[in-house]
Amino acid sequence: MNQLSLTNGFTSRGHSASPASLQTGAHTYLDNRVTKSQIENKRTRPQRARERLATKEHLTRLAVGLGEVELADKIDRCHSRLSVLTCGRHISRIIPNFTCEFRLCPDCGRRRSRRLQSKYLPMMRGFMLHNKVTPVHLVLTQTHRAETRKQSIGRIKDAFTRLQRRVFWSEHFKGGTWSLEFTKDKNGLHHTHLHIIGFRRKFFDIELLRGEWLAATGDSHVLHLKPILDIATGLQEVVKYVSKPLDIRRFGAADLREFLGLKNMRMFGTFGEFRDFCKGFEPSDNDEMTDLESLTRNLVEGCACPQCDAPLFDLRMSKNELPQFYEQIEASSPDRVRKRAH
Ligand SMILES: [Zn+2]
Ligand SMILES: [Zn+2]
Repeated sequence: MNQLSLTNGFTSRGHSASPASLQTGAHTYLDNRVTKSQIENKRTRPQRARERLATKEHLTRLAVGLGEVELADKIDRCHSRLSVLTCGRHISRIIPNFTCEFRLCPDCGRRRSRRLQSKYLPMMRGFMLHNKVTPVHLVLTQTHRAETRKQSIGRIKDAFTRLQRRVFWSEHFKGGTWSLEFTKDKNGLHHTHLHIIGFRRKFFDIELLRGEWLAATGDSHVLHLKPILDIATGLQEVVKYVSKPLDIRRFGAADLREFLGLKNMRMFGTFGEFRDFCKGFEPSDNDEMTDLESLTRNLVEGCACPQCDAPLFDLRMSKNELPQFYEQIEASSPDRVRKRAH
């Protein structure tokens, strides 16, 4: 018996004795992740719209099950009737009757992540112009423990604070943004990680950063780093987790209850010198408007479609009709749409 418990104890601490094996596992995980997000990106617009509907139905059912009738009603009403401003080939603007602002609502999450993109993209470009820095996407992970979601989030955020206080970090990074992604592993343990856009001052050996992360966490050196070639795409990838922090289809009633207890938790933030830069940032009139939404905000029926100049009309539909409308739009003239997009 003693032998058995000793062996078990040794296995659970085994990661510090065999970092190579852990590393292999982690890489497998990260590779899967990339594949998964690539698959997600390949989904068509109608497919994604249908998934949002299914996610909301699932959330409504869970909320009803927990007796959260008011929340269920809000999610159900959110984006249930839509005013779609369209020329027939493009959609310029979708105005919902109501937005629930619930953090796990995929429709509200999309709006939130678009808002974050249009707010932070000009600041990121400005910061990169003023400083000699290159952006990287850094994923920091931690070991899984039996703990609550709140504890898991607190643990990784504390470790990141410790990492930022280390000399190596300040020598190599000039701030950036963080966002949280959380899920569970197959044993039901919380799997929380931080997605960071870090503004790198100079190149370094990734192994050194692994050592720093191990020193900050005490038991994890698992991270993933890739250069960001286009900051707009890099930011889009990271704020995606603000709208989709977890796989809600695998989310149960207990998960929702726990999530509701995390009301004021931040899921996105800035740090370091970039944080100070954002505080003092005043957008200039010359800033490039890259966000289609900010271009279309003032459009009404009768205006010209920004993509083809045809007059816009206001089409009223229910949420269930939107995926089909996307299909019609895509079938109307795909080649033409693609040309116009350039
Ligand atoms: Zn909503
Ligand atoms: Zn058009």
